[in-house]
Amino acid sequence: MSESVLRLVWVYPDLLSTYGDQGNVLVVERRARQRGLNVARVDVRSDQQIPTSGDIYLVGGGEDRPQRLAAERLRRDGGLSRAAGNGAIIFSVCAGYQILGHEFVNDLGRREPGLGLLDVVSERGTGERCVGDVLADIDPRLGLPELTGFENHQGVTRIGPSAKPFARVRIGKGNGTGDGTEGAYNETVFGTYMHGPVMARNPAIADLLIKLALDVNALPPVEETWYEALRAERIAAAERPA
Ligand code: GLN
Repeated sequence: MSESVLRLVWVYPDLLSTYGDQGNVLVVERRARQRGLNVARVDVRSDQQIPTSGDIYLVGGGEDRPQRLAAERLRRDGGLSRAAGNGAIIFSVCAGYQILGHEFVNDLGRREPGLGLLDVVSERGTGERCVGDVLADIDPRLGLPELTGFENHQGVTRIGPSAKPFARVRIGKGNGTGDGTEGAYNETVFGTYMHGPVMARNPAIADLLIKLALDVNALPPVEETWYEALRAERIAAAERPA
């Protein structure tokens, strides 16, 4: 971490922030400040350069056309890839997740290169759009409680050998390939289809990112009452028969 300031970068709020994904940066920022950390947050619009010295980068979801524009600009800019090369922690949602992979199918029906930071490939699913509340078990190696989120995507994502499934769905579609996986991750880069915003529903993920960025095993506890109430409500909603 640079000069004992935790540097958060929210990538392209003007293109990638559907379903309140902005909440992810707010939750990470708040939980870091609650631990007494100095936080510098930078919101980088798509006409600005991505700084390469961030500690944690957050990338949200987006509609198909903004997703293509974001991918073009991120490839041209190169900053996010350089930051990944510097070991930055990157967490991405839905369209952002697809962009971090090797390729996805864009709004024009063409294969669009991603940044290749996560070993996944996305295409357009031929079945019904994946929409609804999701309940999933996060890879036990990450030591996190069950994952609650909301999904809305046509893309389906296959995981290659150098990435691991982030979670296994109990309810919902996740990566949409029928193999029960949801999201993907490697040492420093995470992707998920979960909106919610996912950090508000799963603050333990925000804490994981902070711990990875600080290279510490634990953080002091914080007040969890409202997060727990939201989690209980959304988990019950997922479990309710449609
Ligand atoms: N456009 C992408 C899809 O439908 C991502 C959608 C999203 O980010 N919600 O797969």
